[in-house]
Amino acid sequence: MSGARKVHIKSFGCQMNVYDSQRMADTLAPGGFVETAHPEDADVVILNTCHIREKAAEKVYSEIGRIRVMKDEAAAQGRKMTIAVAGCVAQAEGAEIVRRAKAVDLVVGSQNYHRLPDMLARAENGERVVDTEFPADDKFAALAAPARAQIAKRGITAFVTVQEGCDKFCTFCVVPYTRGAEVSRSVAAIVAEVERLTDAGVREVTLIGQNVNGYHGLGEDGAPSTLGKLLRRLARIPGIARLRYTTSHSRDMDEDMVAAHADLPELMPFVHLPVQSGSDRMLAAMNRRHTARTYLDLVARMRAARPDLAFSSDFIVGFPGETEEDFRATLDLIETVGFAGAFTFAYSPRPGTPAADMDAQVPDAEKSERLQRLQALITAQQRRFNASFAGKRLDVLLEKPGRLSGQLAGKTPYLQAVQVMAPASLVGQVVPVTITELGTNSLFGELAERVEGPALSAAGA
Ligand code: SAM
Ligand code: SF4
Repeated sequence: MSGARKVHIKSFGCQMNVYDSQRMADTLAPGGFVETAHPEDADVVILNTCHIREKAAEKVYSEIGRIRVMKDEAAAQGRKMTIAVAGCVAQAEGAEIVRRAKAVDLVVGSQNYHRLPDMLARAENGERVVDTEFPADDKFAALAAPARAQIAKRGITAFVTVQEGCDKFCTFCVVPYTRGAEVSRSVAAIVAEVERLTDAGVREVTLIGQNVNGYHGLGEDGAPSTLGKLLRRLARIPGIARLRYTTSHSRDMDEDMVAAHADLPELMPFVHLPVQSGSDRMLAAMNRRHTARTYLDLVARMRAARPDLAFSSDFIVGFPGETEEDFRATLDLIETVGFAGAFTFAYSPRPGTPAADMDAQVPDAEKSERLQRLQALITAQQRRFNASFAGKRLDVLLEKPGRLSGQLAGKTPYLQAVQVMAPASLVGQVVPVTITELGTNSLFGELAERVEGPALSAAGA
């Protein structure tokens, strides 16, 4: 390949897809591809898809329709545009996509991104390429590392995938089928990646995995590690200001992880811990392997270890067989915990999962009604949580220019967005901020102390 060609990658769904999209861009960069935010200008458009709910998959087909119009316009100008579908819809539907959407040239499953340059070359020669095998080779080892300038351009926060796949088989979920069995990367590979990121100015790293606290990668001592040990190791890397991890399963939260929250100031006191339901009957039918009581006990143990810990969660309403009483048990659990936020979903049957064939599917109208009640409660809790910081000081990691001139935008330990008047030289620093105003989507604050620049990081310049 010669000269700079343009690739546009659009991510749907979870952070794992955002991370994978960046790795795809990094893998294509040595072949002369630069990223563009404008699909209409691109030589290659990659849709990195999500299959978690029905609507997510349908969105992909409507997006393909939109890109097809651009492909036709490019062809009219004598320019070739290649359309690739990646991610979980690609993994689940495979060749069905090229049958259903004639504009698609290439379908690549979530384990095969390192083979993209070769597949693209074949697609550009007119072949319609479908590759959704789960290969034995290590995708992570084969994927290209990002260049330093590329890391700096992406900002001072980064995701790092440490674990992929899931062995839990919740009865509603497609992940074990689309992402396969749990695989963990080695501690050495993760440390090397985080060191590369911090060298280029990254200050906050979020470790990601479908079941991240099930992490069991090979340790530097040759024995299997745990997420707690990995976090302790990463906290020692110079330049790391903040560590986060997502998404956890309550069943895999061991006592060392609880202790890590007490021991590591770098580990942010905000945990996404999906519970799905507060009804033990529903939790058993979902094969969640925890009860409302074991979840509440874990929350209490974690709060005892780190009193300023806040939780967010995922909830599904209208799982097959859910009664009003089951739903009320969910509301009760929410009242007991007091969440800082949550993702709330109406149950969506996914073909091939056990719950899709269960009797007593809940009518859509009932699901929407429960979803609204659930969302109202979560919104009220979120507002109360944000309001509890009015007039208080919070540490804010300043990330980028803010909305107004002279302002910087940053995040609190709880991922609340904050706008603060501060010099640009402070980007990349954690500064104490007094919260002065609560907006709908962000908080506003002022520097609580005079803080001297320049920023520690290269990215802050
Ligand atoms: N591994 C995580 C866990 O155990 O909770 C999250 C995986 S999934 C990518 C994110 C969320 O999507 C789930 O927690 C669940 O609330 C929701 N979800 C998954 N399958 C669903 C379905 N069939 N219908 C509605 N929501 C679903
Ligand atoms: Fe899906 Fe999460 Fe359950 Fe795994 S633990 S099957 S990813 S919901």
